[in-house]
Amino acid sequence: MLENVEEFDMDKVIEEFESLTEDAERVQRETLKRILEDNASAEYLQSLGLNGRTDPESFKACVPLVTHRELEPYIYRIIDGDTSPILTGKPITTMSLSSGTTQGKPKYVPWNDELFETTMQTYQTSFAFRNSFTEKRISEDSVFLVRKGLVFDHSSISCASLVLSVIKVTWHSSGKLEKASEFPIKNGKALSFVYGSKQFQTKGGLAASATSNVFRSAGYKCGMRALQSLSCSPDEVIFGSDVFQSLYCHLLCGLIFREEVQFVSSTFAHSIVHAFRTFEQVWEELCTDIRKGDLTNNVTVPSIRMTMSKLLKPNPDLANLIRNKCMGLSNWYGLIPELFPNAKYIYGIMTGSMEPYLKKLRHYAGELPLLTADYGSSEGWIGANVNPKLPPEFATYVVLPHIGYFEFIPLTELENSKGEPDFLCVDPQPVGLTEVKIGGEYEIVMTNPAGLYRYRLGDVVKVMGFHNSTPELKFIRRSSLLLNINIDKNTEKDLQLAVEAAAKLLAEEKLEVVDFSSHVDLSKEPGHYVIFWEISGEASAELLSECCNCLDKSFVDAGYTTSRKVNCIGALELRVVRSGTFQKILDHYLGLGTAVSQYKTPRCVAPSNSVVLQILTDNVVSNYLSTAFS
Ligand code: AMP
Repeated sequence: MLENVEEFDMDKVIEEFESLTEDAERVQRETLKRILEDNASAEYLQSLGLNGRTDPESFKACVPLVTHRELEPYIYRIIDGDTSPILTGKPITTMSLSSGTTQGKPKYVPWNDELFETTMQTYQTSFAFRNSFTEKRISEDSVFLVRKGLVFDHSSISCASLVLSVIKVTWHSSGKLEKASEFPIKNGKALSFVYGSKQFQTKGGLAASATSNVFRSAGYKCGMRALQSLSCSPDEVIFGSDVFQSLYCHLLCGLIFREEVQFVSSTFAHSIVHAFRTFEQVWEELCTDIRKGDLTNNVTVPSIRMTMSKLLKPNPDLANLIRNKCMGLSNWYGLIPELFPNAKYIYGIMTGSMEPYLKKLRHYAGELPLLTADYGSSEGWIGANVNPKLPPEFATYVVLPHIGYFEFIPLTELENSKGEPDFLCVDPQPVGLTEVKIGGEYEIVMTNPAGLYRYRLGDVVKVMGFHNSTPELKFIRRSSLLLNINIDKNTEKDLQLAVEAAAKLLAEEKLEVVDFSSHVDLSKEPGHYVIFWEISGEASAELLSECCNCLDKSFVDAGYTTSRKVNCIGALELRVVRSGTFQKILDHYLGLGTAVSQYKTPRCVAPSNSVVLQILTDNVVSNYLSTAFS
């Protein structure tokens, strides 16, 4: 086990991490044994005939692979107040809500103290690696960065120059590496865009909320203080009942404590971009509040008003300084370091569905490094980012072998028409953590200490290498296909790449895609893909038609292009929506209980997700049909 939440010795955390990852297979066996012993009395496990066996072989033979759907009857009994040991030995008293943006509605997943403990262990591990010192040496022809046995060889990275520029290595004139920059943070504060989502009681009296279970846990503050990551905003702001008012006050607190802010963070990068887009709208109001020492009347929640009035004192100098800085920026480039001169980095999950926000985030960040946070879910954490210097595009997550029991369903490699590898799951026979192969793509199966056994998380990862004997995973995509009409199959990643390609055309006119989603329209034969775009300004019909054609051409999956050519799939349609439409979608999810810090824009809206589809449809201002295959 790693350190206690309150005590935190970075060297010890790294040492333990190295030792756990060196013997991952043994650690996995022990972890499984612990989980099965602790929950031996659970009805679910008893019904599967394990009869006290805790070895991986018996576990795999007796316990089926499941998705959330199969566990729902059990979860709903718990929610409805059945306190018998259903999924776990000790009764579950709290439920988490996953964001559920893929399915259209949040899902309940059991939460307990062990999950809080593993959350803090994951945070501690990546923090230790961000703050620890890196030794370096030079071999004959390649550069190694060595950190307590971890050898990171640049030659294994395809874009070495990008990596080198990001880690800011300094070269002597002799060509020798002198030092590698680190990310140590001293005593200070974090500007964290975190929000305690609504907590409510289920019918059976269980507490339920989204990620705020972590923020509400007794040890959270102590743990974050030890990680020097305490939020500069008071609890009343974090747990405020109105997300917009909380966001406004997070920004205000950040400005009041601007000298102390050591880094800017959120759980997912979307919240940081959302916060600074909001800053662009409200900065003058923020300056007025600081100048007068008086909070705007737009903040009405009494608890937030009371706490902010204690922090806010008239400070015309600060107001002028911020005003001058804002006025001096060109299109808000480098806003974050201007506002927070001592910030060392921006921190939050930046991979997967967050990648589309990287461009905007880099724009606000200027020269500040972007560090992706760890990899996990409401169901539990999976891996830590122990190579913080890698830019998000190259980030990997090292699986923590003691926080859950992990299996991997191999996705069989097939060749697509372009001779490139394409991955398809044909036989869901999972392999163990240490049996995965470098280069392979897998769907993750998780067994956690809170009642999920052989649970298909729905994420696809790629094994990029090993840290000692535990794999380093790159997040690839959600496993479900996003767009599919005929023999075509396009994933979230394919959509993202198509949008990126078409957005380049917009960028030539200094416009950007603020957010996007998609839909398969089967209302007319043949069905066709619809892409919804919110853009940052007015674009000409000519340019948008070009973007539409580019989107259509950018789906390179052979099933799609063939179907398009023979008109089994109709022309792709680009629908441009009014400014603020994606904010309305966010508001809708917040109303369902999703936490803003956990929010992921739904990248494909199914007909069953009728409210979101209606929001999009009601806000369409123009539409374009592709002529790319005419
Ligand atoms: P939630 O269920 O709302 O807690 O969200 C969890 C999901 O977010 C995971 O299953 C992933 O799909 C995604 N996710 C979490 N961490 C990362 C990460 N580091 N990179 C990419 N996607 C992530």
